[in-house]
Amino acid sequence: MGIFSKPKLKGKGPTRDSMPDHLWTKCTDCGELIHTLDLQQNHQVCPECNHHFLMPSRERIQLIADPGSFEETHAGLFSKNPLNFDKYEEKISMLREKTDLNDAVVTGSLTIEGKPTMIAVMDFKFFAGSMGSVVGEKITRAIEEATEQKCAIIIVSSSSGARMQEGLLSLMQMAKTCAALAKHADAGLPYISVMTHPTTGGVTASYATIGDINLAEPKCMIGFAGPRVVKETTHQDLPPGFQTAEFMLEHGLIDDIVHRRKLRNKLGQLLKYLLP
Ligand SMILES: [Zn+2]
Repeated sequence: MGIFSKPKLKGKGPTRDSMPDHLWTKCTDCGELIHTLDLQQNHQVCPECNHHFLMPSRERIQLIADPGSFEETHAGLFSKNPLNFDKYEEKISMLREKTDLNDAVVTGSLTIEGKPTMIAVMDFKFFAGSMGSVVGEKITRAIEEATEQKCAIIIVSSSSGARMQEGLLSLMQMAKTCAALAKHADAGLPYISVMTHPTTGGVTASYATIGDINLAEPKCMIGFAGPRVVKETTHQDLPPGFQTAEFMLEHGLIDDIVHRRKLRNKLGQLLKYLLP
């Protein structure tokens, strides 16, 4: 025991509990503490190491669209419980209230640097961006509307894959979205896919990886099953950087890696080139 006993601190100053929630965010990559406002102003990118955090769908649309040009479509669609999956309806209601979204994708029309286009932006905060029948239906409608209006379709993916609670109806969305994209391609119209962290499962295996141009954000994870599952199944060590955007670029799955700050400009350039 020491000579002096430690005094007990009984100050009434600020404590950990009195600190407002969500004021600071710790970067998962470099550990830097970032003020939430700074993070928002920097488009949810760490100013220290450029780590790209998840970006809410509406914030993404604001980043990409010409100001005031976005018009949302089919916003009222939300999932029922076709398979009577236990507590699915409760979970959907809770997420609708919490996220102010009706499902994991926001669709609509907008212009990017003056070029009219249709867009679908997935939102990971709603049910981990899983694809159920509403996500598939909204994306399909956005593609079909793009074909009708003879403009491009852009899909920004961020997903854990097909939604288990809707079983086969979820898996069916893979074929449905791809069939709509095939018709869009037959009409000679472009599709740009933007993959963000993480793009996995049935979304990777359907529309996310079949763009005429496939873009991705730096270091985002792109894969079908996660690395742990792949390792356990194949009993092999995985190469360094496995399933990152950089690895995919090196192996030819994607065409370019685009920093979020440059995304709008890049999409504008591509649209002008693809639909002069
Ligand atoms: Zn960082």
